[in-house]
Parts: sequence; structure tokens; C-alpha cells
Amino acid sequence: MSPLFIVMLGPPGAGKGTQAKIVAQNLDLVHISTGDLFRENLKNETELGQLAQQYMDEGELVPDDVTIRMVEERLSRPDCEDGAVMDGFPRTAAQAKAFDDLLSKFDAQVDVVPYIKVPDDELVERLSGRWMSPSGRVYHEKNNPPVVKWIDDIDGSQLYQRDDDKPETIRHRIEVYNQETAPLIEYYRDKGVLVEIDGTQPIEAVTEDIMQAIKEA
Ligand code: ADP
Ligand code: AMP
Repeated sequence: MSPLFIVMLGPPGAGKGTQAKIVAQNLDLVHISTGDLFRENLKNETELGQLAQQYMDEGELVPDDVTIRMVEERLSRPDCEDGAVMDGFPRTAAQAKAFDDLLSKFDAQVDVVPYIKVPDDELVERLSGRWMSPSGRVYHEKNNPPVVKWIDDIDGSQLYQRDDDKPETIRHRIEVYNQETAPLIEYYRDKGVLVEIDGTQPIEAVTEDIMQAIKEA
């Protein structure tokens, strides 16, 4: 069977990470979040983490060459043989092109791009209330609270708020998205793989729409 590559597209806070985790589990695929990979490098104080930190703190994108190399390395591991659910990558036209070239080497392509649409004012509310688990699981203080405040339901670890989930940085990240990433909507629409998803629905309803889109791809 040919591998299946899904790209979650949408602004910061749309629910890409939330949905990518569920969809990857449903389909038994790996979930690749470039944000999580950078944060892991930051925590482990690697050279890559040190390089990424200043960009992440300011809500800027990490340079394309660094990001593409990191994804290339991740995709070369055997657990990606059946495909992957990409979350937060690609984020620029250059990354999208590099990703296509990379996949073509494995006779693969981007199969479906769920574009999760949520209005800007809702994004700020979602990101300001986002609680993260070190494992990458995502909660929201009101919309998707853990059973015990600040504790991960699954592994009991302490939840935290991301440094870049401050109102000024959130607004800048949305600007960067509009400038650098939003053009990918037309890029993937032209390829016939884009499916618009109403991201304002409850989490389960969004998942259902995405699973349906994948089935029809
Ligand atoms: P992204 O990965 O696109 O930045 P996340 O998946 O981290 O977004 O979600 C951002 C915040 O919004 C999290 O706190 C999450 O719990 C919450 N959230 C995700 N999906 C929904 C939804 N459908 N309705 C309400 N809140 C949601
Ligand atoms: P995220 O967890 O997807 O919100 O990403 C957090 C931060 O990591 C972003 O604001 C960027 O600084 C960096 N980042 C994540 N993915 C990419 C990417 N594909 N290209 C460049 N920078 C990225």
C-alpha cells in the first residue's frame, strides 16, 4: 500500500495539534509536529534548540533550511514508512516545495490537506487558555480542561503554558501565518488536495469531518 501523508493546515490555535494527535492514532500513523521537535531540542539544549529559541520566543519562523533538514531527518526513520500526519509543517512556499520533492523520492505525495478554519478573535482566546503537557498533549482551561487542574489526564505530568502564548506574541504569530503560510491554501487547492474544515465546532465534530475528508481523498 502506498504511504499516506496528511498536512494539517490552519492558523496558530486552529486545533492542528489537537486533531493531528487523534487522527494519527486513528490511522496508526506517526504525528510529526515541527513545533514539538523544536521544543524538544530546546529542552535538551541541543545546538538546533539554541538556534530555534530566538525565533520561537519572538513568534518568528525558524529559517527554512534548518526546518527542512530537521523534517528530512525525521521522515527518514522507519516509523514513517506508512506516512505521517504533519502538524505545523510546511509553513512557507519553500517548505511546501521541498516537502513535495522529498516525498517524490519515496514515490509519495501530500494526499490530503485539512484546512482548519477559525476566526482570529477565537484564536487568541484559545491560545491564551492553552495548557500543554510535556508529551505534546493539548488542553484548554475552559474548552478542553484536564480532570485535575494543571495535571495531564493520561500520564499525570504537570501542564504548562507556552512562553509564546502571550497576547503580543500570539498576534505576531497570526500575522506571520497570514503572510507566510496562508498562501499554501491556494497551493494545495490548486493540487486538488485541500479540504476546508469548520474548526469552530466541538473537537469531536472537527475530527469526524477530517476523518471523512481523508476517507474521500
Ligand atoms: P494549533 O496546533 O493549531 O496551534 P491546538 O491544537 O494547540 O492548535 O489548539 C489550541 C487550543 O484550542 C488548545 O488549548 C485546544 O485545547 C483548544 N482547541 C482545539 N480544538 C478546539 C475546538 N474544536 N474547540 C475549542 N477549543 C479547541
Ligand atoms: P507551533 O508549535 O506549531 O505553534 O510552532 C511553534 C514555533 O516553532 C513557531 O512559532 C516557529 O517559531 C517554530 N516552528 C514550528 N514549525 C515551523 C516551521 N515549519 N517553520 C518554521 N518555524 C517553525
